[in-house]
Amino acid sequence: MKTRILKWMMTAVAASVLFVGGCGVQTDLAAEMPAGAQNVQENGAQSVQESGIPNVQESGAQDAGNAPETEGDLTVTFLDVGQGNAVLVESEGEYMLIDGGDREYSSFVVSYLKNAGVTELSYVISSHYDADHLNGVVGALNAFPCETVLAADYVTDTRVYDSFCEAVAEQGISLVYPSVGDVYEFGDAEFTVVCPDSYDYADVNDDSVGIRLVHGDNSFLICGDAGKASEEAMLESGILLDSDVYLASHHGSDGSSSAEFLEAVSPETVVISVGEDNSYGHPSERVLADVAAVGAEIYRTDLQGTVTVTSDGKELFWNTEPAAERGQGGNAGETASGGAEETETYILNQNTKKFHLPSCASAEDISSENRAEFRGSREELTEAGYEPCQRCKP
Ligand SMILES: [Zn+2]
Ligand SMILES: [Zn+2]
Repeated sequence: MKTRILKWMMTAVAASVLFVGGCGVQTDLAAEMPAGAQNVQENGAQSVQESGIPNVQESGAQDAGNAPETEGDLTVTFLDVGQGNAVLVESEGEYMLIDGGDREYSSFVVSYLKNAGVTELSYVISSHYDADHLNGVVGALNAFPCETVLAADYVTDTRVYDSFCEAVAEQGISLVYPSVGDVYEFGDAEFTVVCPDSYDYADVNDDSVGIRLVHGDNSFLICGDAGKASEEAMLESGILLDSDVYLASHHGSDGSSSAEFLEAVSPETVVISVGEDNSYGHPSERVLADVAAVGAEIYRTDLQGTVTVTSDGKELFWNTEPAAERGQGGNAGETASGGAEETETYILNQNTKKFHLPSCASAEDISSENRAEFRGSREELTEAGYEPCQRCKP
C-alpha cells in the first residue's frame, strides 16, 4: 500500500489548475506550486491515496534513516505577542513567519524581524484570519517581500482580512491553500501540512493551517487555533503528529489539546503563546494538567516573554529555563500546596498590593517606589491584605 501515486498527484493538480482564491485572485495552482511542494514525490516519506487523504504514516515512515540530513541550525522563536501567536523560523538564512499577533503587536513583530536580519520571507503561513493571528502577518507582508503565502481557504468580512488580501496582491503573488500531506522544503528543514482536512468547519479555528516542521531528529507541531474537530480529524487520518515541541493550539484553550491529541503528539515541550491575565482564561487548567500528564515541560510567553529554541538536528537548545515548576507552568494544583507557613522571598507591589515570586516577569515592571522585597510566609502577606499575582501564582 505504499505505492507513490505520482500520476494521481499530477492529475489532481491539473484538475484544479484554475480556481478563484478567497482573496478574489485567480490562482494557477500548477504555476504557483512552490518548488518545495513538488518534492512531495521525491522524498519518499509521503504518499497519497486515491481518496486524497494522505497515506497513514506508520511511525517507520520517519525513522532515523529517513530523517533529512542537516548541516545548519534551525531556530524557532515564539514571539511574545500577548494574546495571539507569532512564530519566526530561520534555517540556512531562510525565514518563515507563522502568524503575526494582533494589531498592537504588529510593529513589534516587524521590528523584531528586521532586528533578526530578515530581508525577505520564504514563507508566510497565516493559520486562519482571526485578528490575534493575522494583523502582524499583514504588517510583515507590507514590510518584506515574500515568496509563498500559505493560508486557510475561507473568506471573512473583516478589515484586517481585506488588508491581508491587499498586501498579498501588492506582492504580486497568490495564496496557496495547502492540503494535508503537502510537503515543503525550508532551508535545512521541511514541513508537512497536518491540518485542516477541510476548510468547511463550523468554527474557523478548525480551518487553521497546521504544520509539522522537521529538522533532523527534531520536530515541531504548530496548528494555529485548531480545536477538537480538527484534532479528531488529524488523529483519524493517522498522519504523523509525534513532535518534540508542540505549540499549544488556541493559546492553551480547553477546546484544544485534548488528552488523546497530546498523547499522539507526546511532546517533550509545550509552548503556550498567551496574553497575561487574558479574559479567556487561557491556558486552561485542564490543558496544563494533561500536558503535565504526558510529562512535557512548559514555556509560556505570558510569563517568560519571547522564547527561542535552536535545533542542531540532534538536540534542542532553549534560550531560557522552562516556566518554573512552582505554580508557574505546570500543574496549578501544586500551587501553594503546604507553602503557607514556609518562609520565602517575595516581591511586593505596595501600590497594587500584589505579591510576586522573584522570578515573575511582572515583578520586574514594578517601579522602585512601589517595589519592596519581603521575606516571610504567604500567610503573613495575605493577612496584610496582599493578593498573589495571577501570573506567577506565588
Ligand atoms: Zn482563532
Ligand atoms: Zn488565536
